[in-house]
Amino acid sequence: MAGRNALLWISSAMLLVVLLLGCEREVSSVPPLERHKALRNMMGTSVKIVIGAPNEETAAAAMEKAFERIAEIENTVSSWRPGSEISRLNDAAGGDWVKISEETFEILEKALEYSRTSDGAFDVTVGPLIKLWKSAGLEGRLPEEAELRDAIAITGYDKLLLDGTGPAARLTVKGMSVDLGAIAKGYAVDQALATLRTCGITCALVDAGGDVGVMGGRPEGGRWALGIQHPIEEGKLLEQVIEMTDGAVATSGNYRRYVMIGGKRYSHITDPRTGRPTHAVPSVTIIAQDATTADGVATTVSVLGVEKGMMLVEKLPRVEALLVTIKNGELNLHRSAGFSHYEKAQVNEE
Ligand code: AMP
Ligand code: MG
Repeated sequence: MAGRNALLWISSAMLLVVLLLGCEREVSSVPPLERHKALRNMMGTSVKIVIGAPNEETAAAAMEKAFERIAEIENTVSSWRPGSEISRLNDAAGGDWVKISEETFEILEKALEYSRTSDGAFDVTVGPLIKLWKSAGLEGRLPEEAELRDAIAITGYDKLLLDGTGPAARLTVKGMSVDLGAIAKGYAVDQALATLRTCGITCALVDAGGDVGVMGGRPEGGRWALGIQHPIEEGKLLEQVIEMTDGAVATSGNYRRYVMIGGKRYSHITDPRTGRPTHAVPSVTIIAQDATTADGVATTVSVLGVEKGMMLVEKLPRVEALLVTIKNGELNLHRSAGFSHYEKAQVNEE
């Protein structure tokens, strides 16, 4: 018993020493961090970076590197850029294998993982449906049933083959196309944070228009506070504010991007099984350890709806969700079991 008490005492004393050393280090050798911020239009949105750095020069150099990394990813995986790896893969649909980079392989593999876990609600080969709704929207009409059937017929993640030895990818049916819009921004946020880390930055926020990742806490100290956009009232935030250090938050919703047809709003998120835009959950916010996961799960839950979406979230480790549905103009909030751990009472947007 005496031995156990002694052990307890030693561990308490050690803890105290660790804390005291920590304090002393903070006072003597760590320079105060200044807050620096930069915005740039990329990936079809405005990307914001906020970091803590000892001076302007260090901050500017680190943020430039992070923006360069995002541009590199955009050039590689955007299906709208002719010559990108994904465009080359799409152009070769129905034909031979296409050589791809390790990075593109890794993202496609991740996308296929979401497709399998969601039983096809998330589908990286949703390209033909996205194009169909976009072009119909431009013509101000709804797609014809036959057009929907044709697009659904060439959509299906089982028709995307990957070979890790090349690495290479192959779309087995002519007219198919890959669209990484549901996870590319999250992936870019994670990579931008990793780049900032290699530049010696220890606290940062990267926001790619609804896909946010944070490293450490705020430059001034304390956790980052992140607001969630109101799904109906533009420019307004929900009262719910997320506070965190080291993690990511993504919001998917039909108010973020959509096409207007006959005065009605159609989401850019499409259910590959029906070929139609989703509308059940106007706003899905996902908290995860990294932005790729938050981004992928947010889109998946948008398609799955409240019940099945929440079931998926509760199964995933360290993933939480806040879903907003609307009935008679009233917002209904649905939280996963652990969401409240991240909730803060008052709005303080970064
Ligand atoms: P997000 O804003 O992250 O929810 O991503 C939406 C984007 O993902 C759309 O603009 C499409 O490019 C793509 N997308 C739409 N529906 C799906 C789906 N069911 N599975 C995978 N990607 C999709
Ligand atoms: Mg997404």
